[in-house]
Amino acid sequence: MEFDAVIVGAGAAGMTAALTAARNGLSAVVIEKAPVYGGSTARSGAGIWIPNNEVLLAAGVPDTFSKADTYLAAVVGPEVSTARRHAFLVNGPKAISFLLRWTPLRFSWMEGYPDYYPELAGGMPNGRSIEPRALDANILGAEKANLNPSYVPTPAGTVVYDVDYKWLSLIARHPRGLATATEIVLRYLSLSAQGQDPISMGQALAGGLRAGLLAAGVPVWLNTPLLDLHMENGRVAGVVASRDGQEVLIRARRGVVVGSGGFEHNERMRKQWQAAPIGTEWTVGASTNTGDGIEAGRRQGAALGLMDDSWWGPMIPLPDGPWFCLSERTLPGTIFVNQAGKRFVNEAAPYSDVVHVMYEKQHIPCWMIVDQDYRNRYLFKDLAPLLPFPADWYQAKDWTISGLASKIGVPSAALRSTVDRFNAQARAGRDGDYHRGDSSYDAYFADPTNIPSPCLAPIWLPPFYAFKIVPGDLGTKGGMVTDARARVLRPDGTVIPGLYAAGNASAAVMGHSYAGAGSTLGPAMTFGYTAGMDLATT
Ligand SMILES: Cc1cc2nc3c(=O)[nH]c(=O)nc-3n(C[C@H](O)[C@H](O)[C@H](O)COP(=O)(O)OP(=O)(O)OC[C@H]3O[C@@H](n4cnc5c(N)ncnc54)[C@H](O)[C@@H]3O)c2cc1C
Repeated sequence: MEFDAVIVGAGAAGMTAALTAARNGLSAVVIEKAPVYGGSTARSGAGIWIPNNEVLLAAGVPDTFSKADTYLAAVVGPEVSTARRHAFLVNGPKAISFLLRWTPLRFSWMEGYPDYYPELAGGMPNGRSIEPRALDANILGAEKANLNPSYVPTPAGTVVYDVDYKWLSLIARHPRGLATATEIVLRYLSLSAQGQDPISMGQALAGGLRAGLLAAGVPVWLNTPLLDLHMENGRVAGVVASRDGQEVLIRARRGVVVGSGGFEHNERMRKQWQAAPIGTEWTVGASTNTGDGIEAGRRQGAALGLMDDSWWGPMIPLPDGPWFCLSERTLPGTIFVNQAGKRFVNEAAPYSDVVHVMYEKQHIPCWMIVDQDYRNRYLFKDLAPLLPFPADWYQAKDWTISGLASKIGVPSAALRSTVDRFNAQARAGRDGDYHRGDSSYDAYFADPTNIPSPCLAPIWLPPFYAFKIVPGDLGTKGGMVTDARARVLRPDGTVIPGLYAAGNASAAVMGHSYAGAGSTLGPAMTFGYTAGMDLATT
């Protein structure tokens, strides 16, 4: 029970840290609380935002350190130190190169998926996010069965990438929609004809990292939760964990990396740190992420930061769980209204920003209003265009806007006038109130065939529908404060010897913002890699 490095949590941060430590000559073990590995990483879309990496450069993306630095500084603001920002930008590309060398993971540029603030200096309207290519799950052997399932299972007989969603949602509108639907089937057929069991997105990312650990001989102990950190002479010298029903001490000669995710499923912590209304029912993060690592670090004096924030996104509370409302919200023919029946936000803004406004102005819940024309045009969740919405998905349906208003308890005249005003703006192609469509980000999950603006369409064809919208998240983003080497700091800025944190167990390098698709996984992998390197080299 003694290793050079003990890593807590088998998500992107933990598995990258363990692989880095192992491939740099250390003995390492990953302890994982769940009966499966992968955490939220396996559930995710696996978009990865790491500027200026070799995959982007090979694809011809004109990125540089300096462009990315200018952009990131403007996005995250002064809350995050320059040293940490630079550590992310310098080590991120190295982490990608390292994973290309030591895992079967291969990545593609998510061409056209813009940075979330593409008009800022250094921002990229064509995007600088990457995602894993399909991975053959057979290489995992018996570990294939232990991979945490994804949040959105891809339909049988398809291989779907993040960049496909935009076009799939336009299947009834754009020739590329049908072409993409055909392509995802052909992709599957071609890979399965070669004897593969192809997996994609978060499944591919977590599976690929796990395959890297298998090849490096790093054990991943499932059902082994961290209970506490073990201290010796003022340094973290191991962990106390539960294994096979017994409390065990696992010593770490060099140090411990905490990659145990956020606290999204810890009701007490959410209420303690975050604004009301808050709970655990609106998150889509892994159910085992209950902040254990953050609390263990705190007991040893770790400073905590950004605990009030999360990787927010508007959610529709559906009977089988919250639905992360992305393209459904930004396609034309939708508005969000508050309890007063008024719009209050650019509905197509980055998801984190929309929820920040919901909390600031206390518009919780709010309502997404759509019409039958919208239903006829676009994919909604996994429901094909034209098919009726299941009655338990929406809060109200009515043949008039006034009738809809009274069913959701908002003033009828206000909602009528909001819809009239929005419709006039949509017909003119310009949202003078909230500037929806002004940023090229807004136009990503939109409809290029919609005229005059891809982002705006009137709400006119009855029946009308109202969906309840609540502030959900992909996980929390507050945790232990770390330095540029991923070492955990005390409130006075001194280092807790032997303790590292990465991913959602640490306070995010993104601050309160979200730079582009993959802004949680990119830093998680980068600081996992940084911690592994630091353990190996100091
Ligand atoms: C549906 C969905 C889509 C997403 N899409 C994207 C995307 O495209 N791009 C992006 O950047 N982000 C995305 N995210 C967010 C992203 O997945 C997470 O922020 C990221 O996976 C966090 O990585 P992590 O390594 O910190 O935590 P996780 O991947 O959650 O791993 C933490 C692990 O620690 C384990 N653990 C917890 N407590 C203990 C304990 N006491 N002892 C041992 N182990 C413990 C957990 O069981 C878990 O396996 C998405 C999330 C979801 C849910």
